Amino acid sequence: KPQNERQRMPVVPQGIERDDFMKALAELRKQLGAEHVEINDKPLRDGWYMEHPNTHDMMTILDEEEFVASAIVYPASTKEVQQIVQWANKHHIPIFPISMGRNLGYGGAAPRVRGSVTLDLGKRMNKILDVSAEDYTCLVEPGVSFYALYEALKQRGLEEHMWIDTPDLGGGSVIGNTVDRGVGYTPYGDHWACHSGLEVVLPTGEVIRTGMGALPGNNTWQAFPYGFGPYSDGIFSQSNFGIVTKMGMTLMPNPGGYESFMYTFPNEEDLSSLIDIIRPLRISNILENVAQVRHVTQAIAARGLPRSTFYPDGAGTIPSSIIHAAAAQTPVGDHTWAYYGMSYGPPHIRAHKLALVDAEFRRIPGARRIDPATLPPDEYFWARDRVARGVPDIHELRWVNWRPNGAHVAFSPVSPIRGRDAMRLFALGKRLHERYGIDFFPAFCVGLREMHLIVEIVFDRADGESKRAALACLRDLVDDAAREGYGEYRTHLVLMDQVAGTYGWNDGALMKFNERLKDALDPNGILAPGRCGIWPRRYRGRGWEM
Ligand code: ADP
Repeated sequence: KPQNERQRMPVVPQGIERDDFMKALAELRKQLGAEHVEINDKPLRDGWYMEHPNTHDMMTILDEEEFVASAIVYPASTKEVQQIVQWANKHHIPIFPISMGRNLGYGGAAPRVRGSVTLDLGKRMNKILDVSAEDYTCLVEPGVSFYALYEALKQRGLEEHMWIDTPDLGGGSVIGNTVDRGVGYTPYGDHWACHSGLEVVLPTGEVIRTGMGALPGNNTWQAFPYGFGPYSDGIFSQSNFGIVTKMGMTLMPNPGGYESFMYTFPNEEDLSSLIDIIRPLRISNILENVAQVRHVTQAIAARGLPRSTFYPDGAGTIPSSIIHAAAAQTPVGDHTWAYYGMSYGPPHIRAHKLALVDAEFRRIPGARRIDPATLPPDEYFWARDRVARGVPDIHELRWVNWRPNGAHVAFSPVSPIRGRDAMRLFALGKRLHERYGIDFFPAFCVGLREMHLIVEIVFDRADGESKRAALACLRDLVDDAAREGYGEYRTHLVLMDQVAGTYGWNDGALMKFNERLKDALDPNGILAPGRCGIWPRRYRGRGWEM
């Protein structure tokens, strides 16, 4: 048999005998149909973004077998999701839901507990259930990607009428990204804030609809997110309290025009004044989208060439002289920071806002506005342009080529939009990257009153040393940032316990509360144990945390 058909001994969840597990799977096959239950017994293949595996993390920073599924099941309906949940409770088998599993840099499709049964919701539950051109809303299932939603609007002739909002990479699931609180780059970039209404299968098998969805016969599920009573949606994001089977999402009216712009700034220290200039502009919506301030190193990497092209010697962090020499070929030229933004609306409205931005940005000596007309079509700027007008894209993947077998994990702390915070986080990142000989790719993404610093660490996943250095660097970044009062907005599976631990005010009161919810909602502890640092009772204190 060819190599890729050879069998691998599948893992079995801890605490269950192999025979019993196989019997349990046979039972599930009877319920769902044999072809919808797959044992993970083939060699693990990483594929690439568009053909990603659902068996493990294709960009693993640990050994591949560490966060690996024992089997994958493909439910076709909410009812089948309920059946699987009931089955998991009966046999005490951990299950891990994914929508599409393209959560790159945060764990991909991998479960936190080795040997979990992965529920790949997206494969068969991939319908767009509703698009309302009047209300500018839609209702989707887990398998609807940003690409699919975009195409659906086109097919219905609505792409001029309304826009979707897409993250940097458009192949992910709208639900998956939103429940993990991912962001996009139109004014609707805060996906969680823009969703309205969930349908959730609870860990004991019941189904609920949140907000107006609880009122039979309502026509406001996607229009009013709160309904009556406690706002329950929050506990279903970044958690392991339920499986989201439907979600409402708001869509943006076509603003009547758009225009991307780019500025560059000469020195590292300019970051401080730039961020202080951005703050009032962003909070007052003169800067209207989640705008990005990127370091020149990433502008070079975004060209898709490996670092060895620029730095054949390769030792330690790439020297800044080399970066600056290479940057001469990019629009950033001899500068250090690039700002990518978009202005929305018809020309006269844009002209007013862009004039304000221009006057403010030029207060930084040497600030340069790059004329988009001078940029070739393949330039990274145009990828940002597409994403900022809700057109899905995958150009962003290119910087993964920076290292052979390139993979990445992000460090993503949040801070206010203040120059001094930006400089502190920048200095902290730079110091630790230099300590571990890693190239530093910082990008500040400005939300509304806060910014996420996204630092992507690119490593060689075939090189143990490269993975160890990346992980050690990430661990120090999380700890040192927390010591200075900064926490992450989202994290990779491998760092979830550590990050959750940094949110430890009042003797870990918040985690104790989460654990009480977990034990009440999931008494058998079957749903995504350990996700976001929340361990069910039967796992706690038994060495699962890392
Ligand atoms: P994407 O493909 O959009 O990146 P994923 O499917 O990888 O998203 O989802 C990211 C993470 O969010 C998953 O690892 C999972 O823990 C959680 N998740 C995704 N979809 C659901 C869902 N429908 N219900 C509950 N949790 C989910």
